[in-house]
Amino acid sequence: MIQYLDLKQVNAPYEEKLKQALTGVVDSGWYLFGQEVEQWSRDWKFYVNTRYCVPVSNGLDALRLVLEAWIELGLMKPGDEVIVPANTYIASILAVSDARLTPVFAEPDSETYLLTAEGVRKAITPKTKAILPVHLYGQTCEMEEIMAVAREYNLKVLEDAAQSHGSVLKMKDGSVRKSGSIGDAGAFSFYPSKNLGALGDAGAVCTDDESLAVTVQQLANYGASRKYVHIFKGENCRMDEMQAACLRVKLDDLDRVNRRRKAIAERYLREIKNDRITLPVCRTDSVWHIFPVLCPQRDALQDYLRGEGIMTQIHYPIPPHRQGAYRELQELHLPVTVKIAHEELSIPCNQCMSEAEVTKVIEVINRF
Ligand SMILES: *Cc1c(COP(=O)(O)O)cnc(C)c1O
Repeated sequence: MIQYLDLKQVNAPYEEKLKQALTGVVDSGWYLFGQEVEQWSRDWKFYVNTRYCVPVSNGLDALRLVLEAWIELGLMKPGDEVIVPANTYIASILAVSDARLTPVFAEPDSETYLLTAEGVRKAITPKTKAILPVHLYGQTCEMEEIMAVAREYNLKVLEDAAQSHGSVLKMKDGSVRKSGSIGDAGAFSFYPSKNLGALGDAGAVCTDDESLAVTVQQLANYGASRKYVHIFKGENCRMDEMQAACLRVKLDDLDRVNRRRKAIAERYLREIKNDRITLPVCRTDSVWHIFPVLCPQRDALQDYLRGEGIMTQIHYPIPPHRQGAYRELQELHLPVTVKIAHEELSIPCNQCMSEAEVTKVIEVINRF
C-alpha cells in the first residue's frame, strides 16, 4: 500500500540523531529557554534570511501573536479587517478572529489556488489593516504584486508560511527570497506532518522588524519585558527544548526533502494525463507540501485509488465560510473556493516514496 504520509517513515532516517538530541535535553536538566531554542532561533532565521526569529508553540500562535503584537504596537485595533484567502486551512482564519480582528475572504486564483494581488484589491475597505497571504500547498504567492498593493494602501503583510518551508520567490531585481521573509512578518508551523516537522507542536515568527520581534517574544512569555515585569496581558506560547533539538537535527535535510518532493511533482505534472483530472499550475516555486488535483468525481477517484492501494487526503473538504464556526459568513458567494473544496484530492507526494511508487500512482490515475 502507498501511504499518504507515514510519519514513522519520515523520521526514520534521523532516528539515531533524534534520540541523541533528546537524550542531550534530558541530561541537560534544562527544558525551556535553553541553548537548543536559542540555537534554533539562529538556525531558522539564517535559513529564512530574516534579522529575527522568535520560536513559539505552534503555527496558529505564530500567526496570532503577530496580529496581537501589531495591536499592542498601535498599528491596528480590534474590529479592523484582515484579508485572507477564502480557501485556506482554518488556522489562518482563526488567528485573525482570535486576535479580535475581522477576516475578510478573498477568492483564490482558479489555477494556482493562491491569494492574488487582484483578489486583495477587490476585498479592500476603509477598515482593512493587513493582508494574510497563505503559501498554500507549498507554493509561494505573487508577493511582489501583493506588497505593491500593501504599500499603496498602507497595509501590513503577514505571510502564512506553514506549508512552504524553503519555497522561494525570484524577485524582479534578480534576488531570490524565501517565503516567510518577504512580507512584514512570516509565520511558520512545524507540526509533525509539515515539510519540516517537529515531534510535537512548534512554530516560529520571522521578521526584520525589531519592535515586532520583541513584542511577539514578550507576548509569548506572559507579556514580560523581564522576569516578573509584565507590560502586556500576555500568554504562554513558548517552544520547548525537545522540539528545538529535533528541528535542529532535521533542518540539515530540508533542502533534500524539498528537492525530492519537487522531482515527484514534476513527474506528476509531466506524466499524469487524464481528461477528468486538472493538475495544479505553479507560476512561482513550490515545495509541494501538498500535490492537489481537481476532479469533479473526486469521491469516486478517492475510492478507486484506495481500491488500488493508494491513500489520499482532501485539503480541505469544508471551506471556512461553510463551517459552523463562521456561520455568520455562510451566505458569501465564493464559487472558486467551493469548487476547490468539492473537487480537491491530495495525492501522495513525499520523500518516502520510491520511483516505482510514483510510477504506480501515475499509471493508476491515468487509468481512472
Ligand atoms: C498547519 C497550518 C497552520 C497551523 O499550524 P499549527 O502548528 O498546526 O498550529 C496554519 N496555517 C496553515 C496554512 C497550515 O497548514
